[in-house]
This record gives sequence, C-alpha cells and structure tokens, in this order.
Amino acid sequence: MQIAGYSIDLERATQTIKKKGYKTVGLQIPEGLKRNVFKIVEFLEKETHATIIVSADPCFGACDIANNELKNLDVEFVVHIGHTPIPGTENLWIPTTFINALSTMDVTKAVEKSLSFLEGKRIGIVATAQHLHSLGAVENILQKNNFESIISAGDERISEKGQILGCDFSAGMNIVDEVDCFLFIGSGTFHPLGLLLSSKKPVIAADPYTNTVKKQELDELKDIILRQRYGAIANSKNAKEFGILIGLKRGQQRMDLAHKVKEMLDAFNKKSLIIAMDNFSPVSLQGFGNIDCFVSTACPRIAIDDYLQYKTPIITPVELEIVFGKRKWEDYGFDQILG
Ligand code: SF4
Repeated sequence: MQIAGYSIDLERATQTIKKKGYKTVGLQIPEGLKRNVFKIVEFLEKETHATIIVSADPCFGACDIANNELKNLDVEFVVHIGHTPIPGTENLWIPTTFINALSTMDVTKAVEKSLSFLEGKRIGIVATAQHLHSLGAVENILQKNNFESIISAGDERISEKGQILGCDFSAGMNIVDEVDCFLFIGSGTFHPLGLLLSSKKPVIAADPYTNTVKKQELDELKDIILRQRYGAIANSKNAKEFGILIGLKRGQQRMDLAHKVKEMLDAFNKKSLIIAMDNFSPVSLQGFGNIDCFVSTACPRIAIDDYLQYKTPIITPVELEIVFGKRKWEDYGFDQILG
C-alpha cells in the first residue's frame, strides 16, 4: 500500500491474519502516520474482516511494543508499522509482525547536494529504516563522483546493512576506522547527532524530504550537548541519593546494567534505588524529590535529548563512571544499547 509518501507492505500482515484466522488485531503506528490511520485500518478490515484496535500510546521505536496492554483486550496479533524488529521484542506476549514503512522520496537530489560537504574519499553510508532500500542508489552516486562507499552490517539489534537506531550505531562504529566521514540519509538530527557523538567522525546528513544537507548544525548541536553533559556530570558529583531508571519497554530493558550501576553506587557509599517506568517524564519523576541524580539505563536518549526538561540531573551509566573518576572526560562515550 502506498500512503503519505511511504510504501507499506500491509499485504504481508493480511496474509498472516487470514491464514491464522485472527479475529482481533492490534495496530501500532508511529506518530507521523497516525493521521493516515483510517486508510490503514480500512484496508486491514476489508481484507481480513478482523476487528482492528489501534494503540494510541506513543510509539518511540521497535523497543516499544504495545502488546502487553493489548493482551487485556484479547488481541491475538499485533501489526507494528514503521520499525524493524529488535530481538526479544517479537512475539513477546502476542505474535507481532514488524512492517517497515519505506519512504518513496527520491534521495538523488539530497545526496548530490551532500557531495561538496563530504570529507575525504572513504564514506560510510548509514540510514534510518525508511531509507535502507535507497542505499544502492546512494552508493552509485558516490562511486560516479569518485568516492569509495562502505556500508556495514550492524549488531543483532540491526536488521539490515547500514541501518542505525537512535541507541545503536554499530553499523557505523564497525567501520569507524575505515572511513573519513559518514553520510546519513534521513530526516532530522536525532540519528546523525547520535552517530556524531558516538563515532567522533564528521557526519553529513542528507535529508530527502527537504533536499537539504546538514553538517554545521550537527557540529553546533554536538557542542551544545557536550556542554550540557559536562554540566550534568559536574552537577552529579555531590549527589548523595541516586535513582537508577529502568525502562519497562522490553527493547530498552538493561537490568544487568542497572545492577552494575547499583554495585558502583554501593561501592562509593551512595544511597540508591531502582525505579521502573514505562514512559519517563519530569512529571512522573517529580515525586522522588529527595533524589539528587537519576542514572538512566532505559532509552539513552532520555538523558541526552530530554535533559533540559528535568530539574534533577539525569545521566547515563557511562557518565556515572566519569562522576566517580573511573573514566576520564576525554574518553566520553555515547551510551548505546548494543546487541
Ligand atoms: S531505546 Fe530509544 S533510541 Fe533505542 S529504539 Fe528505543 S526509542 Fe529509539
């Protein structure tokens, strides 16, 4: 089905629903596609005669599977649109199928525009799930212009070569020593900023939706974020009571890491408690007024991207090591959830 600039293989879902005879099906879609939800539901209902229940909860990524809640509504199958699967989230409570939403935007113009921004000759190409099918075209353009392109597989949480998530840049980090810079295909700054902070290599972002290229904006954002992180670490140095945050979303859960963080805090005679939550927000944490510092083992982007929303410093486990002098600021690393 072609919808709102995306190609979505809904037929794959309808085949499974019909074959298995599912009568009640849950649907999870990203925010950007919610305005088109009627078309998707009508298609699924017409093809399968199943009742479709749309999950209205925000869906932040493949880590964020709604089917625990949907189980209470006797949902037998979940169609999760817009992300590729992360191991451990498929078929968790209810059988789930992940259907990528492939952008139909032509990447050519944005990539051609990016050529004058590229640094060096060896270019690592990465993209979000929506643009992975265009990476061959990107490679061709680079090769025609005498660049050498490298597209790498990622770890187990990464479905296809060249794909990056906001918390997993393994497809870039695997080739970080082989490339002079990275070319990111996709929109926004969320993914390329994470890659820039992780890889410490130049990142050029080509946006096929706006045909714009970002380089300076990313570098400026990186400096702002690093200043904020330095401040957060400094503000946590005198903290006495810590909250260790665990995400209830299955693809964000890092219980082992939470235990390690607790051990480190115990070793430094700091009081701490483990706090589990589904959707983190300043409001949901405001009751913990005595806590001086939160250490997030949930989505790493909570500490980085939402930092200014919180009155109490939120830091990552890597940053906690800097707080206690177990790591130098010069060795700062972006917290990733790797498979
Ligand atoms: S943990 Fe955060 S960055 Fe990673 S997939 Fe989930 S929402 Fe995205």
